[in-house]
Amino acid sequence: MTSSDLIIFWHRRDLRLDDHYGLTQARSRSRKIVGVFCFDPRILSADDIAPARIQYLLGSLACLAQNYSIQGGNLLFFFADPCQLIPELSQKLSAKAIYWSEDVEPYARSRDKIVQDSLKEKGIEYVTHWDQLLHWPGQVLSQSHTPYTVFTPFWKNWNSLPKEEPLPSIENLEGLTIDELEQIAPIALPTAKDLGHCWDKELPLIPGEQAALEILEAFSQNHLENYGQSRNFPSIKGTSLLGPALKFGVIGLRRIWQTSQNISLYSRSDEARQSITTWQQELAWREFYQHCLYYFPALVNGPYRAEFQNFPWENKPEYFQAWCTGNTGYPIVDAAMRQLNETGWMHNRCRMIVASFLTKDLILNWQWGEKYFMQKLVDGDLSANNGGWQWSASSGMDPKPLRIFNPYTQAQRFDPEGDYIRRWVPELSSIDTANLLSGKISPLERMYCNYPEPIVDHNEQQKKFKILYQEQKQKT
Ligand SMILES: Cc1cc2nc3c(=O)[nH]c(=O)nc-3n(C[C@H](O)[C@H](O)[C@H](O)COP(=O)(O)OP(=O)(O)OC[C@H]3O[C@@H](n4cnc5c(N)ncnc54)[C@H](O)[C@@H]3O)c2cc1C
Repeated sequence: MTSSDLIIFWHRRDLRLDDHYGLTQARSRSRKIVGVFCFDPRILSADDIAPARIQYLLGSLACLAQNYSIQGGNLLFFFADPCQLIPELSQKLSAKAIYWSEDVEPYARSRDKIVQDSLKEKGIEYVTHWDQLLHWPGQVLSQSHTPYTVFTPFWKNWNSLPKEEPLPSIENLEGLTIDELEQIAPIALPTAKDLGHCWDKELPLIPGEQAALEILEAFSQNHLENYGQSRNFPSIKGTSLLGPALKFGVIGLRRIWQTSQNISLYSRSDEARQSITTWQQELAWREFYQHCLYYFPALVNGPYRAEFQNFPWENKPEYFQAWCTGNTGYPIVDAAMRQLNETGWMHNRCRMIVASFLTKDLILNWQWGEKYFMQKLVDGDLSANNGGWQWSASSGMDPKPLRIFNPYTQAQRFDPEGDYIRRWVPELSSIDTANLLSGKISPLERMYCNYPEPIVDHNEQQKKFKILYQEQKQKT
């Protein structure tokens, strides 16, 4: 290969030029790298798409296209089935090689296999690398060389492995000629509306690589050393909000890791260093769930634990409707659901509270909640979302059999002044804080505030759930 032979880089969940392993490898072979992003009709027509996520994706793609162009290259967009598009493009452009980053999701893996087979048949070289994880499947295995199904030993092993340094942003690319562009007819970057998804509100974070790096910098400087305490309080900015950037690979994992390590190096207290470790542990949770999905793809379709296989969920549609719209009569649950509906994002503490409430109080199948989250979350991600829901439902890998959150004690501990609840359920603003948190709001006050009575009784429902669970366990 010569330095001006054409390489196609097929971008999927790696929308950046900085700290990019595959792009760096491709750039070491040629200057003429053409970035391609394919809008896959199969993904876009699925019923678990969130408009906020699409908006973030499009914003990040616009930034990536601009970054390519600043370096003299092209990022091209297509609306097509990638299994056909990628081999066809490779032939039309006489590409010397096609590069892409690997993925853990079952659909992505089966799609990539089809593309690989087709390229092989046509005699076109393809090269793949792992990029969305610090340690990919196969690198973190138990002593008996099996995948971990419990987080703590995974974390110990994962944390002990050396981490690679971030890579510099790729530079100095060569673009396509007009003739080459005419042959392949790329489309302009579509709008969310063009794709059938409309998000007209502000996003919780600015899309794009530069913004993600700035968010990382600001979070590391101002919040990371307090993460241990502040991450649990939904009324304050205590977490990074990097979820969407991680979901779409708008920021590199090596860059994130090194930034957090540097802060740790200069931290003055054990408490601050512990906070940083706690945050790094969350990054490891993300990787744990991706490894789980890679090794146990059946997680996508149902529970990991046998006792949940045929669980007698009550599945009352009116309960689900009240949960989705934030009208359960439980202030912390309603605040969280309204935050999700309004902004496309929900704080982690609240995700755990509402997921526990859906499964253990409303006795609704966790998969209903899983899907609703995917339809709303700007950071909605199959592995993390499935992992979070199965953890909350107790149907997943976590060894703790039954985890039931009391919505009142959760509110008292993590929203002690009621600020979060008042922000998202403003009709309760005038209620005394202690009563707001304990739910002791009289029927008259509820009527006056136009706020519903609790849809179920928490104590009764948790007893009921435990009985159902024990019965189910005996059957398996
Ligand atoms: C029911 C439920 C559903 C969830 N759905 C998703 C989802 O669709 N997408 C998603 O990224 N996270 C999901 N999470 C995990 C977590 O709530 C979010 O990652 C976190 O709230 C994002 O906020 P942040 O970016 O400020 O995270 P930070 O607290 O700053 O953490 C940094 C990053 O670590 C990762 N991370 C943090 N906590 C977790 C976790 N528990 N599991 C996996 N990764 C984690 C995320 O990539 C996150 O951006 C879910 C959790 C639950 C309980």
